[in-house]
Amino acid sequence: MLRTHNCGELKSSDINKMVTLAGWVQKKRDKGFIIWVDIRDRYGITQLIFDEKRSTKKLYDKAKNLSREDVVQVSGKVIERESKNIDIQTGRVELLVEKLNILNKSEIPPFTIEDNTDGGEELRMEYRYLDIRRAEIRENLIFRHDVTMKVRNYLSKKGFIDIETPYLIKSTPEGARDFIVPSRMNQGEFYALPQSPQTFKQLLMVGGIDRYFQIVKCFRDEDLRADRQPEFTQIDCEMSFVNQDDVLNEFEGLISHLLLKLKNIKLNNFPRMTYDEAMKNYGSDKPDIRFEMKFGDLTSISKGKGFNVFDSEESIIGFSIKNGNSISRKDIDGWTNWVKQPQIGAKGLVWVRYNDNKTLKSSVDKFYSHDELIDWVKITHAEPGDLIFILSGDYKKTLKQLGDLRLAIAEKLSLRDPNIFAPLWVTDFPLLEWDNELKRFHAMHHPFTSPKEEDIELLKTAPEKVKANAYDLVLNGNEIGGGSIRIHNSNLQKQIFNLLGFTDKEARKQFGFLMGAFKYGAPPHGGIAFGLDRLVAILGGKETIRDFIAFPKNNSGRDVMIDSPSSIIKPQLDELGLSIVKK
Ligand code: ASP
Repeated sequence: MLRTHNCGELKSSDINKMVTLAGWVQKKRDKGFIIWVDIRDRYGITQLIFDEKRSTKKLYDKAKNLSREDVVQVSGKVIERESKNIDIQTGRVELLVEKLNILNKSEIPPFTIEDNTDGGEELRMEYRYLDIRRAEIRENLIFRHDVTMKVRNYLSKKGFIDIETPYLIKSTPEGARDFIVPSRMNQGEFYALPQSPQTFKQLLMVGGIDRYFQIVKCFRDEDLRADRQPEFTQIDCEMSFVNQDDVLNEFEGLISHLLLKLKNIKLNNFPRMTYDEAMKNYGSDKPDIRFEMKFGDLTSISKGKGFNVFDSEESIIGFSIKNGNSISRKDIDGWTNWVKQPQIGAKGLVWVRYNDNKTLKSSVDKFYSHDELIDWVKITHAEPGDLIFILSGDYKKTLKQLGDLRLAIAEKLSLRDPNIFAPLWVTDFPLLEWDNELKRFHAMHHPFTSPKEEDIELLKTAPEKVKANAYDLVLNGNEIGGGSIRIHNSNLQKQIFNLLGFTDKEARKQFGFLMGAFKYGAPPHGGIAFGLDRLVAILGGKETIRDFIAFPKNNSGRDVMIDSPSSIIKPQLDELGLSIVKK
């Protein structure tokens, strides 16, 4: 062994012991007659001391030449520190070095490997292995490990079996584009990397596995939005002989367990809300319910009072902000500009102040009487001291704009407290979504999701009205998981493929294996997948998932450390039958 102890473990009871440590030079303080060197490893930092009187000249000179990030092995005696640092575990002792062995010299690192590093994001991504030496990233990776171990143990105890499914598969439409892998042996043919193991986990249910899970990489070639990774990890699960409630209850158990074990938070309540309610009340299918600001529909009581803007619009919707009356006129103007920015796209913002003395002041006083404004107050559940914001326009657009405004205000008022955890199941999603560009339906969740039993008839007459046995788990305004009860009947599956625009032949070509399997006694089944990266980030109280991934890609989907994607050489292309013929 190159060491007897690690750099995080020596304490007062070790004084006078002879020990050997190994680690990286974090810092050197040369006082002229005494040199202190901090060495670091995964476990902590230990202070070394070299001094002109007690060390040999050779040793002292060697210490003088140490520089940051050199890898060293040191042996010596543990002694009591004169000025103790009680903030760190090893802060009461130091090591009087007798032997210094430089295991490897380091070049000066491109940024300081300290909590407050001077390295910018791109630079740290390029030298990720150095960034991982920093406590923050290291702790994040250890935290991720804790989460995944807890997930594995929990699910395994509950009878879920961890089974690997293939990465080289056939393209499955799940809403995103596939990453494609050319086949050398079958030129002109391609594998696809899985967007999720969806069809395989369903086939495992047909295979009688009953309860499956896998912590698995998924790949989606999507246009990159901030904080999305082209490859990401899911906790993927599937169960047989279950209905929707069974799945929700089972996984409430998992999330409660994680919150209890990792955050010491006891959650008894996972409220459930339908998709329609979530949209109507919060303008979002993943509402953050840590705060109120529930919408009120003012359409019917606000039209026909001479205010042209409202009279000509489909919907008039508002919400009240608790104690919002303290928001200044200037800030209200700021919010008005905010909703008008192109990304939001509202035409304007109407406001009402509900004063402490119950008088009202609004931007539309000319058109609405006190009593009429009192009706708005009631519908938006405002109380004296609150401020009401109202938007108008097309129903769906207005909901979305108001939903965005609600979140932005909550953010500004610091209502999105990362130490509060408010989970929410959103259920009864629409089965299909109309794609205006392609002029056809696509599956809102995925094509294997079952319609609600009572809506099956509507598939023929009004497919857009059909609700699905689909659910999302939302945590603090983030979708952390989603799943559904699946179709297990091959005729119904065929009908859905047809609705999604597949001819029988195309459906057979692409999904024949699944429809075939359904003919051999497929059990009723359903499941869910959680986004592990996001879940870990939220549990860790942070915003960016990149910080919890050892080797992430940047915002343009590049790995700047290994420089990928990159071109390949012509012989490689030839071998794959992919050579681009230049005209
Ligand atoms: N495969 C689905 C997804 O990746 C999850 C599920 O339905 O279980 O979103």
